[in-house]
Parts: sequence; C-alpha cells; structure tokens
Amino acid sequence: MRIKSTMNGLTPYKPGKPIEEVKRELQLEEVIKLASNENPYGASPAVKDALIKAYDAVHIYPDGYAKQLREDVAQHLNVAEEQLIFGNGSDEVILILCRAMLTGDDNIVTAAPTFPQYKHNAVIEGSEVKEVPLIDGTHDLDGMVQAIDEKTKIVFVCNPNNPTGTYISEEAFRSFMQKVPENVLVVSDEAYYEYVSAEDFPDTVPYLNEYNNLMLLRTFSKAYGIASLRVGFGAASKDLIQAIDPAREPFNTSTAGQLAASAALNDQSFIRSCFEQNRREMKKYEQFCDEFGFDYFPSETNFILMDLQKPGSEIFQYLLERGFITRNGEALGYPTSVRITLGHPEQNDRIIAELKDWLR
Ligand SMILES: *Cc1c(COP(=O)(O)O)cnc(C)c1O
Repeated sequence: MRIKSTMNGLTPYKPGKPIEEVKRELQLEEVIKLASNENPYGASPAVKDALIKAYDAVHIYPDGYAKQLREDVAQHLNVAEEQLIFGNGSDEVILILCRAMLTGDDNIVTAAPTFPQYKHNAVIEGSEVKEVPLIDGTHDLDGMVQAIDEKTKIVFVCNPNNPTGTYISEEAFRSFMQKVPENVLVVSDEAYYEYVSAEDFPDTVPYLNEYNNLMLLRTFSKAYGIASLRVGFGAASKDLIQAIDPAREPFNTSTAGQLAASAALNDQSFIRSCFEQNRREMKKYEQFCDEFGFDYFPSETNFILMDLQKPGSEIFQYLLERGFITRNGEALGYPTSVRITLGHPEQNDRIIAELKDWLR
C-alpha cells in the first residue's frame, strides 16, 4: 500500500503523558496533569444536566447543523448563524479549512513556535509552510506579511499564542489586517480568549463585517472546561463558511457536545470566576520567577512558559517524580523552559514550593 508522500516523516500527535501511566511507573498515589491547558475547575455544573439529557438521545444521530448551539453562539457573539462552522474541537475546523483550501501548489504562513496543528494539516495537504520566528515570544506580524507570496492561501495567527502566552494588540492586529492581501485568509485562533485580561486585546468579531478574509477560531475545550466532548467553532463571512462546509463530516459534533457547549456558554458567571482565579494564580508564578530572576513571557492564557535555565527534560522529570505532568520546553522550541498549566491554588502552591526546594 502506498500512503500519500506528504505523510512521510509525520508522527501522530503526542499528548501529555497519561495520568494512570505515570502513577504506575513512578508508584505515585496522586498525579496531576498540568500539560494540556484544561480548566482545573472543571466545567459549569449546568453541563452535568446537559449530559444527562444527552443520554436519552444516545441512539439518535446528532443534529449535524447543531441548530441550538448555533443559535446560542450566534447570539452570544452577535453574528449570523450562517457565519459559524462547528468542529469536533477547533482542531477539526483547522483540518476542514486546510482540506478545503490547500493543495500541493500552495503555502501557508505561521509563527514559530506556535500551535502545531496548522503546520501538521498543511503538510498533509502537500502545502509548503513558511514559518516566521517569534520575536521575544510574540508574532512578527511584519515578517509574516513579508512572507506572503502569490502562493499563500492562509496566514495563521494564534492570539494569544500557544506555547508562549503572548498576545497581539488591537493596534498591531488592525495594521496587519490592512496589509494582508484580500485573497489571503487570516485565521485568528483565539482558544484562550476567555482568559485574556489585556485591555488592548482586539475584539475581532466586529472585524468580520469589514474583512471577508478573516476567520476566528474559538473552543469549548479550555475555559469552558469540556475538552473531552470536543466542540470548537470558526466564525467568518457567510460565503467562506458556505464554501468550506462540504469538507465537514455530516455528524462531526455529538449531541452531548452540543448540549454541553450550550449549557457552558450560558453560564458566564462560571467563566468569570475561572478568569479571576486564573489571574490570581498567575501572579504566584510571576512572583516566583521575579524572585529567582527567571525569564517568563507575560501570559494572557491559563499557562505560563518559564525559563528555569535548566534542560527542559530535567525540569519535566523533576516535577513528574513529584506527581505533576507538565510540558517539557524542549519539545516547544524553548529548551531550558517548562510550560505549566495553572492548576488550583493548592496545586500551584505545591509546584512552586517544589521548584523552590530544588533551586535552593
Ligand atoms: C487547545 C488549542 C486548540 C484546540 O482546541 P480543541 O477545540 O480542543 O481542538 C486550538 N488552538 C490552540 C492554540 C490551542 O491551544
């Protein structure tokens, strides 16, 4: 059998180590995963009722159009229902876009390091990937505009960026949109939108009225806390959504996912409390770095990338042996860093105490 040649050398996504595996290997009673930026406070209690309701319909195919969720999100964002596409996570929206838009003659432009799925999906479609290095952990938007050529189909920006947590300001984003040619799609992946505190962060939804070449990506996996149910969406012009929709599987989001996402969206007070708690916990990590003179990128997300000036694999292993699964910076392009998803207050206190112990 011959797999298409663009697959050569690709490896499947490597998730953070599974909790049960670490418990067994290291004979630990408790292991806490702070590697995938999930919400440590779980999801709104309303999600539980939604899942009980979903149980009654397990034998029926889901609504492929996700009508109720579509109405709820459209109202929440103040966009038309036809401006939305739902995916089995926003990962799937990236896949659908790449499948619908890219060929072996095209290229995409991304930052580096950034979220790996843009590149991964473009490579499978045979497209070239032009990677523009971050400057101080931040998108080099001028460099990205310069990298655009006649073969460029999509420019992906990740705002705030994973794995650095940095953001693109309103002013910078506005000026970027003015420079990108109208026939090149800009995808603004805003997976951490609910965690953003910066006042000059762009509210990109109204930009959709001005720019037909813009798509926003949001997800229910991070602050909304339903990562296992896999729901994310894209928002763009009606024309673009209509054009790419045939590349979507007919029943790509589940009934449980749709009902849970609607319930989660309707509980904005839960989101507000997670946001506030996250900001408070972030300060602890910042203070720790300041105290020890370690560099970190100011983060607008629920994770922080800290340069602890030791090999990332050592930091990772040290924390693993103490029951914390984190992300080794070596795999993220920052070889002496670790990326930690903020946990509960007690978890963060423990992690910081362990790091201090180690460094003294
Ligand atoms: C987690 C994450 C996603 C994917 O989220 P899903 O909706 O769970 O697929 C997309 N983009 C970025 C930057 C992320 O960190």
